Amino acid sequence: MHLQRSSGVFRLIAESEWRKKRLLILCYHGIARKDEHLWRPDLYMHPDAFRQRMEILKQRGYRVLPLGESLERLQAGKLPSKSVAITFDDGGYDFYAAAFPIIKSYGFPVTVYQTTYYGDRPVPIFNLAWSYLLWLKRGSVLTGGKAFGLENSLDLTTEESRAQIVRKLVLNAEAAQLTGEQKNELASQLAKFLSISYEQIVASRIFQVMTPSERSQLAAEGVDFQLHTHRHRTPVDENLFCREIQDNRRALGELGRKAIHFCYPSGVYRQEFAEWLKKEQVVSATTCDAGLADPRSNPFLLPRLVDTSARTELEFEAWLCGAALLLTFRRAAAQVIPAAAGSASQIDSRTKSVLASGSRED
Ligand SMILES: [Zn+2]
Repeated sequence: MHLQRSSGVFRLIAESEWRKKRLLILCYHGIARKDEHLWRPDLYMHPDAFRQRMEILKQRGYRVLPLGESLERLQAGKLPSKSVAITFDDGGYDFYAAAFPIIKSYGFPVTVYQTTYYGDRPVPIFNLAWSYLLWLKRGSVLTGGKAFGLENSLDLTTEESRAQIVRKLVLNAEAAQLTGEQKNELASQLAKFLSISYEQIVASRIFQVMTPSERSQLAAEGVDFQLHTHRHRTPVDENLFCREIQDNRRALGELGRKAIHFCYPSGVYRQEFAEWLKKEQVVSATTCDAGLADPRSNPFLLPRLVDTSARTELEFEAWLCGAALLLTFRRAAAQVIPAAAGSASQIDSRTKSVLASGSRED
């Protein structure tokens, strides 16, 4: 209902001169292959929901550009109207198996910000695996946590209680300086304790990143691989930070092109990172702060729209055209818009002035 009422306004904003100067960079994490979207709707989308997003881009006539080209054209003031770029963070196996086939069917360009450390290690990323295993047994209260350095009684009934257990497991692993193999062994033991087949989880390749050969295969099909640090972390020590970029770039080097675009892991950034990135010949960096990029955006703090299962199609369309930015101008970092934001009656005077004048409205 709201969609019908607002579609005319959305179209006007989408085709305005104001929107033409701006680029919406979409950010996705994972596309579910089983029930991951139920476990973490903020990270995973059901493939049907993702396909519907791509369908909206096509039906509404948005121009999906390769990330590098879109950023060059943004700077040069030469974007086509309704510009969008699609990015995926982390480069999980699910991108290879579930996301790319959908994107390819629409012929859209896509950039993957690839973390590379796990590429040669066919095991799940440990903290995600631990969290998922506990979620699979949600609702239970178990005893026997002592064997894992936890409270003996394990309350798996709430998201918060499960998150606390994962935090403790991560802290314990850090304190004991566990190796990757030891963390994987811990996941295996935890699965056994919870009566879950860890072999099946490993074989499904859930929470695993793409291997070098899978990356090569997709690169040959036009997927653009860019930087996301080697170990998915941003040390505050300059040398360690730069090493993350260098190791990440080296691992991506087999794809033949030098990676020059970067995305902050977990959206965490500090002022000094931009200088360090410049020294490493990186030319852009994206955040997880909601917004549309404009020519005055700091190229090392480019906003993106994190699109998740939790967003309605109305919100998605409101962001595509730019109405959501106008409506939430001062609340952008919160990544939410009011439930009724798409209602034409809610469009504020700021939006009206954009539509009326077609002029820049910063
Ligand atoms: Zn990431």
